[in-house]
Amino acid sequence: MSDYVLRGTAADGQILAFAAVTSDMVEEARRRHGTTPVATAALGRTMTAAAMMACQLKGAKETLTIQIEGSGPIGKITTIADGTGAVRGYVKEPKVELPLKAPGKLDVAEAVGIGVMSITKDLGLREPYVGSTHLISSEIAEDLAYYFTASEQIPSAVALGVLVNKDQSVWTAGGYIFQMMPGASDEIAEKLQNKVVSFGSISKYLAEGHAPEELLEDMLGEFDYHTLDKVDVRFECNCTRERVSSALMSIGEKDLTELIEEGESIEMSCHFCNEKYNFSVAEMQEMLEKIHQQKK
Ligand code: ZN
Repeated sequence: MSDYVLRGTAADGQILAFAAVTSDMVEEARRRHGTTPVATAALGRTMTAAAMMACQLKGAKETLTIQIEGSGPIGKITTIADGTGAVRGYVKEPKVELPLKAPGKLDVAEAVGIGVMSITKDLGLREPYVGSTHLISSEIAEDLAYYFTASEQIPSAVALGVLVNKDQSVWTAGGYIFQMMPGASDEIAEKLQNKVVSFGSISKYLAEGHAPEELLEDMLGEFDYHTLDKVDVRFECNCTRERVSSALMSIGEKDLTELIEEGESIEMSCHFCNEKYNFSVAEMQEMLEKIHQQKK
């Protein structure tokens, strides 16, 4: 099963809904970054949220970035999703190890710590839209729900789940976001709230192998749910050799000269996808010449 996000509405447009399966995307992130289970869960939940939120964007130029900066040992979590369904992301410390919170429960909150969640929507306009709120549980889903309510004034319910196999690979990942649109009735909000509470754990639901279609039908069937669109999502980075080479050039003349004098090729890796790029001494010399020419 490949990954996708469904977006739909229910209760005559009073509810906007997203549901996603992201197992392959999160497994690709784990494989590239070599994340431990708790880091896989933290990154996977954040990437799943970004994939759902970005499904209304258009093309590769419109992007949505989620950054979570907490006091915990995992450090900063960064994910970017665009309007084509490409999602990339990384955590500062992918090797963080923590005891389980309960049998089978990874301690994402402990890994993340206390801090801030920031969301940037770049729609190709002059100024990107940036909002941020403090973390309330550091489990990511509740923090995102709080962000929507406090920063965007959209009461929301969010669930994100990542389950990891014994060999640390990703078993399954996915989630949902339900949002009450402006003008939604209190009655609908209360009914949906009850539904969310009785639904219980998203991880358990995913483990039972349900698809996003079933999730939306189970949760919103009684509210006359309709799917608006389906977007395929995947782990994909937009880094190129040129881009990494300009990052290397940006360290400046002095540092580049030192590297050249050391006489060894250098390996640079992309933060987002961990792809490795090698630059020979000759190539670094070309970069230095380019810097000189730019100065003239
Ligand atoms: Zn990359």
